[in-house]
Amino acid sequence: MNDRRDELARGLAAVHERIARSCATAGRPAEEVTLVVVTKFFPASDVRLLHELGVRHVAENRHQEAVAKREECADLGLTWHFVGGLQSNKAAAVGGWADVVQSVDRPKLLPGLTRAAHERDRPLDVLLQVSLDPPGSGTGRSGVAPAGAGALAAAVQGAEGLRLRGVMGVAPLGGDPAEAFALLARVAGDVRTVEPAATWVSAGMSGDLEAAVEAGATHVRVGSAVLGNRPSRR
Ligand SMILES: *Cc1c(COP(=O)(O)O)cnc(C)c1O
Repeated sequence: MNDRRDELARGLAAVHERIARSCATAGRPAEEVTLVVVTKFFPASDVRLLHELGVRHVAENRHQEAVAKREECADLGLTWHFVGGLQSNKAAAVGGWADVVQSVDRPKLLPGLTRAAHERDRPLDVLLQVSLDPPGSGTGRSGVAPAGAGALAAAVQGAEGLRLRGVMGVAPLGGDPAEAFALLARVAGDVRTVEPAATWVSAGMSGDLEAAVEAGATHVRVGSAVLGNRPSRR
């Protein structure tokens, strides 16, 4: 267990160092970037160690797994992000435990999320997931098309109990992440014309967080660089 703690501490230190260096390159204060550690596939014991090591934001991408882990870690006061593909029939359930839903990409999710927000005592923070894949690439990955983000932002604003905080994106495999994150920054600007308080830009993972920070990311979502390679799914 102590070995694991050391391993996580080393991973965290390396990631914080990378964030600090990219912020310096971009002339941004390091406090502008929030590290969200993606703990999917890893046990609640790791979440607990990460909390001891100062982590305050964690992310999960599967509802069942997240619910169990969150329950085991209920005493920690962590902020839980959902970063997975969301089915409309799961939206209310995810909105029941998540503090931030980063993967809102279509209006069909809004009724369920609104219902969840209604049942909690505070608004539910949401980000619009924007597709950064080349148009027509047919990868089937989630995300609203860049041109559709403004309309979706307006729909979220019309949904009671949801607080639109900004945008999220995943750089396409094999593409230039700097280009993808520049596009995300432009879409973030479009969204801010609808909701000026939507200032969060969630971009960058273990492999490309530098490019994301240099393009203005406020949140980076890092898994393997902190936790190691994910165990294979059962
Ligand atoms: C798993 C995941 C991450 C973290 O990926 P790493 O490459 O392990 O850092 C970030 N964002 C999303 C949406 C993910 O599903």
